[in-house]
Amino acid sequence: MGFLGVALSTYVLFLTRRRLSKLKIVIPPVTTTIECKKCGFKNIRDFKRGDYIFKEGEPCQKCNEKMLITAIYREVKEKEKEKMSF
Ligand SMILES: [Zn+2]
Repeated sequence: MGFLGVALSTYVLFLTRRRLSKLKIVIPPVTTTIECKKCGFKNIRDFKRGDYIFKEGEPCQKCNEKMLITAIYREVKEKEKEKMSF
């Protein structure tokens, strides 16, 4: 039983390490959604440092009104999800 426990924890450690090293290499892209409250125009762009939700963004491309950041999220690929639930 003792040996099995050690083997199992080593295996789990191995899996965790593999996952961590993979995360270091593949940085998931973070996306920022900016919305114009006036005309409803939506713009999705890469996350920039200093972005936060409800921050005033750049002017709207359609009506020139200041746009608002409504969402910041990390894009998770479907394959990653499958690997997580081992
Ligand atoms: Zn607009």
